[in-house]
Amino acid sequence: MNDLGSSKHVVILGGGFAGLFAARALRGAPCTVTLVDSSTQHVFQPLLYQCATGILSEGQISAPLRRVLRGHRNLHCLTAHAYDVDVPGRRLMCKRPGGTQMAIPYDYLILACGVEQSYFGHDEFALHAPGMKTLADALTIRRRVFGAFEMAESAAEPAEQRRWLTFALVGAGPTGVELAGQIRELATKTLRKEYRRFAPKDARVLLFDGGKTPLASFSPRLCRNATDSLRDLGVELHMGSRVTNVDETGVMVTSNGGAPEHYDAGTVLWTAGVAAPPVADQLAKATGAERDRGGHIMVGDDLTIAGHPEISVVGDIMGLRDLPGLAEVAMQSGWYSGHRIKRELAGQPPAKPFRYLDLGSAAYISRGKAVVEAGPVKISGMPGWVIWLFIHIAFLTGYRNRVGAILTWWVALTRDIRRERAFPTRKVGLVTDIYNPPGEVTQGR
Ligand SMILES: Cc1cc2nc3c(=O)[nH]c(=O)nc-3n(C[C@H](O)[C@H](O)[C@H](O)COP(=O)(O)OP(=O)(O)OC[C@H]3O[C@@H](n4cnc5c(N)ncnc54)[C@H](O)[C@@H]3O)c2cc1C
Repeated sequence: MNDLGSSKHVVILGGGFAGLFAARALRGAPCTVTLVDSSTQHVFQPLLYQCATGILSEGQISAPLRRVLRGHRNLHCLTAHAYDVDVPGRRLMCKRPGGTQMAIPYDYLILACGVEQSYFGHDEFALHAPGMKTLADALTIRRRVFGAFEMAESAAEPAEQRRWLTFALVGAGPTGVELAGQIRELATKTLRKEYRRFAPKDARVLLFDGGKTPLASFSPRLCRNATDSLRDLGVELHMGSRVTNVDETGVMVTSNGGAPEHYDAGTVLWTAGVAAPPVADQLAKATGAERDRGGHIMVGDDLTIAGHPEISVVGDIMGLRDLPGLAEVAMQSGWYSGHRIKRELAGQPPAKPFRYLDLGSAAYISRGKAVVEAGPVKISGMPGWVIWLFIHIAFLTGYRNRVGAILTWWVALTRDIRRERAFPTRKVGLVTDIYNPPGEVTQGR
């Protein structure tokens, strides 16, 4: 396996922010690095919602891992899905596309596989309510959202038309808020002159969440600002609400302990929870690693599993001091792990314990409105939006993607044009509902 002439082999599972930064830190290290990912792309997840709502293309929010890492002569990329870890034998067990099994030996393993959407024990909801973690999810949502307007235009009955013009979103964290704002913007701006049988501005966006306020991880003042902005946009907030069922007709909701109520909705989108992917479950079982309530794998200050200095866990799947699932945590932890291993291989003294430098977080609400929080600094409205813009341009992977995003945002903001509205359909006649095919499962990468 170690065909690049080095004695030690580092395997990184996952080419998201954490895996990519680990790979970058290992550039030039005296080892061979294999980066395993079931996708060929590094995806910039914070802009998935813009891909889903027609602003940016999938190519603008992703970059081929091979291309990004082409200058790393000690690294090769492998497209495969990892399903288990043989801890005593130090092998990552994978399936190639097509299903052939392969075992990849390692001296060091960096687990950077991120987290998956969780339906809180109701995986059957995924059939009707796509989550948003991958490019495939974003394209599914794009089809559902734009498809719903098409279905409304041809609906025979007013009730059916109303159902297609109702969008139910579950989860009022940053992703739910961003999606809700974008769907209302689509309805009131981009699509406002395009339909003849209904006024797109009448589209309802219902946002359900069990908590008291949207964006609950932000400070109370920013939460209030976000709430006001969402209401101004026309998003209907249903806080203190628990979604107990999802089917093709909409959602069943219990609000503040009251009787269950049904909301008709042609489109249901799920952004409510996260869970560890199966390979992380397997690794935790095999190593006896502790987990927290969210299923994260607990690590020590050097980001390795207790008793297994050869296995690092970084990014969203890592459990350490309640650090949040943010891109910045993933980048810093990935970078640290790569460096720690590089130092060890070079015979240098052990790295200092991992310290997270909190650079804050941001959430986009609508055009000209975002909230940004960094320590005591709390900014909302237009200033927050400008900061949001700079952060996202700075961290988007690849020069071409940055330039492309700036130009596209300019057109979208000044002329209300969203160019990325294309989506594949099934042939009419083969299925009754071309925008919501029965049996479609959207989870998986
Ligand atoms: C919609 C959305 C919006 C977000 N917005 C923000 C934001 O505004 N600001 C912010 O800081 N953070 C945001 N985040 C969080 C941020 O994107 C994550 O914290 C970050 O992506 C985590 O990086 P990671 O490398 O740990 O995991 P990921 O980026 O999820 O990467 C994991 C990689 O592992 C691969 N993989 C997983 N399982 C396997 C397997 N079994 N076999 C092979 N490959 C596998 C996947 O294909 C993927 O490439 C957002 C996340 C989402 C989903």
